Amino acid sequence: MTNPGLRETRLTTALPDHPLRIFTLKGARAGPVLALIGAVHGDELEGPLTLSALMQSLDPAEMAGTLILCPAANPEALAASTRCSPSDGRNLARCFPGDPGGSPTEVLAALIARHVIRPADVLIDLHSGGGPVHCPLFAGYGDAAATGGAARAMARAFGAPVVWRHPAPLPPGRTLSEAQDAGIPAIYIEAGGGIVPPPEIVSRYEAGVRGIMAHLGMLDQRPDPGPAPRQVAGSGDLDHAIMAPVSGLCHCRVDLLAPLSKGDICFDITDLDGRVLASVPAEADGIAMFLRRSRWVSQGDLLMASAHPDD
Ligand SMILES: [Zn+2]
Repeated sequence: MTNPGLRETRLTTALPDHPLRIFTLKGARAGPVLALIGAVHGDELEGPLTLSALMQSLDPAEMAGTLILCPAANPEALAASTRCSPSDGRNLARCFPGDPGGSPTEVLAALIARHVIRPADVLIDLHSGGGPVHCPLFAGYGDAAATGGAARAMARAFGAPVVWRHPAPLPPGRTLSEAQDAGIPAIYIEAGGGIVPPPEIVSRYEAGVRGIMAHLGMLDQRPDPGPAPRQVAGSGDLDHAIMAPVSGLCHCRVDLLAPLSKGDICFDITDLDGRVLASVPAEADGIAMFLRRSRWVSQGDLLMASAHPDD
């Protein structure tokens, strides 16, 4: 059954088989415009599953404000179950603000910036570890002077057990940097990922979005974010995390959220005969936030990213 309040717009992209589908759901009462994005990375299904469930379950008669939903930000990568776009190899999360005359992924970024992010008052971008990486359920936000306070409150309202603050400036090219440049408070969500998202995580994402809608006054329910989260800080820039120095079988030696001391061995990478090719230490004291899950790594793949306590 279709939600009678939903409206869909299909925007032409550089790839005729992969239009950008944008849905709007307008509440009965005035309120903020909340943009929700999923599948910026095509191997992260938590966003599309969460947003499709919300589109069926939300009743606009009981809602204030407007949702702009973009459940498949990179439809080509979603269809291929890949992190980046098969057509040009680009990572959509590095392409904002995009270029209407550029490569297919740059065109997508420009369309999303214009039709999803910039018309919004607030933004939530739903990610996950995808196939190769594991992480705890957390909400991340940029701590810019103009938007950091509102973003922090949204991150808290989501109800994740961990909140990650990224000091300004955010690295460029992201949905969050695009929003921040436009003065729009924005957060992103991450969770353990995997090829098949666990149903309980999708339920947590859906409840988290509803919690933020309650926080923003869009739903007539009492915000209930649960226990105070663990607060961590750090850049979170996965382009400058610890990468695999060699290719081989990957053996992780630490647990998510474990305290790390500089020099602790976090990964061994072995050859096919079991010989250790490289032992990879923590580069600083911290907390393990992203850890490689896949058991084979290629040289240059992300192994680990860490944060530090922010209490
Ligand atoms: Zn992602």
